[in-house]
Amino acid sequence: MVQPRKQFAQHWLKSDKALNAIVKAADCQKTDRILEIGPGTGILTKRLLPLVESLLAVEIDRDLCKLLVKQIGSKENFLLLQGDFLELDIPAQIGNFPKFQNQNKVVANIPYNITGPIIERLLGTIADPNPQPFDSIVLLIQKEVAERLYAKPSTRDFGALSVRVQYLADCELISIVPATAFYPPPKVDSAVVRLSPKQIEIPAEDPKKLATLVKLGFASKRKMLRNNLESVIDRDRLTQLMEKLAINPQVRAEDLSVQQWVTLVNSI
Ligand code: SAH
Repeated sequence: MVQPRKQFAQHWLKSDKALNAIVKAADCQKTDRILEIGPGTGILTKRLLPLVESLLAVEIDRDLCKLLVKQIGSKENFLLLQGDFLELDIPAQIGNFPKFQNQNKVVANIPYNITGPIIERLLGTIADPNPQPFDSIVLLIQKEVAERLYAKPSTRDFGALSVRVQYLADCELISIVPATAFYPPPKVDSAVVRLSPKQIEIPAEDPKKLATLVKLGFASKRKMLRNNLESVIDRDRLTQLMEKLAINPQVRAEDLSVQQWVTLVNSI
């Protein structure tokens, strides 16, 4: 067994049940081109390779890369890039490997310390959505973050992250994975989630404004929305606009659905 490094948030998945849940959620097809972030020792990679057209993996740890190449390197549908997923210019790196371009799905047990930035890189942002959205993104992540991704309005977990992500993608819980499914076990439980980037039904007319108001609106979770937005929009005017849209003017940011957020900001 390769000794996991803390520095790279390495936790090897050892549960067959969790692996099966991930692979099933990805619904792999022979035409799929998969992107995997942080293949580690390749436990998930080896499951996916026989099912898909190609798999591009990005791993930061040089020693693991050597090991992976030794183990699976010569498979013609496998390409490994060594580097930091958040920094790497993937299209530039795979220019000479047409089979690995335009991946349509992401399947990964990612490093938890950079979950937010990874999701942002995969989906883009409200103001700058990924112009080539993936068909689906199946991730094993920390349970607390997962709960925020698929949270419904007016629940404890529904926050700015929920709005930002749900504006761009449908989010589903696939299954909860206990800490004991890993070596070494992380401090928290985990969950498999599937994000399905979607056509935005009612797009924001000014996406930057939506992003800014969402951030401000959730700045103080206990305050009413109109108080959090006071610095940018007059309270009375906001109250009127909300009444017009049949939104209770006393709501907090967490009570608005993504759709209501968009209609409200479009009306401001
Ligand atoms: N998928 C493996 C490993 C998960 S641990 C498994 O399920 O067992 C997370 C993996 O992400 C580790 O291999 C770690 O080295 C890698 N990693 C950490 N930071 C990374 C980054 N910035 N870019 C790419 N890979 C990274």
